[in-house]
Amino acid sequence: MPTGSARPSVRPNMAQLITNCHYPELMIPHFDLKRQTRQLKDELMQALEHTLDNCQFILGDEVLKLEETFSAYCQAEAAAGVSSGTSALHLALLACDVGSGDEVITVPFTFAATVAAILYTGATPRFVDIEPGTFTMDASKLEAAISEKTRAIMPVHLYGQAADMDAINAIASKHNLSVIEDAAQAHGAEYRGKRVGALGDIAGFSFYPGKNIGACGEGGICVSQDAKLIERVKTLRNWGQQGRYQHVLKGFNYRMDGFQGAVLNVKMRHIEAWTERRIAIAERYRDAIAHPALTLPALAETSTRHVYHQFVLLCEEREDFRAAMQQAGIGTNVHYPHPLYRMEAYSDLGYQAGDFPTAESVAVRCVSLPLFPEMTDEEVNTVIQAVNEWQ
Ligand SMILES: *Cc1c(COP(=O)(O)O)cnc(C)c1O
Repeated sequence: MPTGSARPSVRPNMAQLITNCHYPELMIPHFDLKRQTRQLKDELMQALEHTLDNCQFILGDEVLKLEETFSAYCQAEAAAGVSSGTSALHLALLACDVGSGDEVITVPFTFAATVAAILYTGATPRFVDIEPGTFTMDASKLEAAISEKTRAIMPVHLYGQAADMDAINAIASKHNLSVIEDAAQAHGAEYRGKRVGALGDIAGFSFYPGKNIGACGEGGICVSQDAKLIERVKTLRNWGQQGRYQHVLKGFNYRMDGFQGAVLNVKMRHIEAWTERRIAIAERYRDAIAHPALTLPALAETSTRHVYHQFVLLCEEREDFRAAMQQAGIGTNVHYPHPLYRMEAYSDLGYQAGDFPTAESVAVRCVSLPLFPEMTDEEVNTVIQAVNEWQ
């Protein structure tokens, strides 16, 4: 209540007081980056100091080491560290020769960067709807979206679950299209026992601080089974140079910082433990959440390792549910409130309301629960109890 307001101060109602003493440790945030950073502070400081001492501020040994570790982690052949997940996707598309006049098929229900990266190349994004259970690309709708201009397909492993890559790859090879995985949310996820990142032609991952493994700033990486594609990305990220001042391609300033490479090498030592903890929390949610008005996220049969970047419920009364969680001291979020073609920035893509009914219906019902590796068991239980008690 602002001071000087004419209205008398509002007394908290009884329900709120009871709620507050029922959940004294307000609040359980949707995501808390401070816990992890605090735990790793000594290791991170050492890594940063090492970079300060050797002055490898752009690329350098730490980025090289990360490229080796991360490509091995993805069961891939090679990797190239870049300045963000968005630049990873942009360069992955360029490495596959996508450009002006081409069309790239993706989903409308994703973060804006997926579509922005396609637009940066001069190509046009074309959408296919998502599946209602897994929220990933509906491969059964893919062929109908292919035109003479189609050059590539960009599935998104949304929330940490792999899209149906066998079906997508089969259609791509039939029509001679490249497949670029948007793996920004899916580090370590598996499809039929194989890691994402090595399932299509090339993949882009993000190290945005809120992703399953994050830099202390911006970062991203391209991964591929094809070392030649990664060589192209390495040329493109560094002003298109092959050798100093030898510009063989029209490139970009998309190099990864040495500091971020050093930070990520520290964090790679923990990625498996963090991922297993994410999965354990998600399994607790799956086992314990039971509410007639809430739908749990579906696990695809092909998705042998969902890494739960987000744990997303569907709920008709979403705003009411979110308000109740807030009252109980629990942070929720919405990923994402609108399919991209409904946003002003992308309203010129030629789509209109109703074009992708599943994306639209999920966008109004989806809600993400708190899920991060540093959550305590007690916090997980508190979330479960509050969710199940919602009326
Ligand atoms: C985060 C994200 C990106 C972009 O990554 P940045 O590192 O933020 O540039 C791209 N696609 C998806 C699906 C994402 O979640």
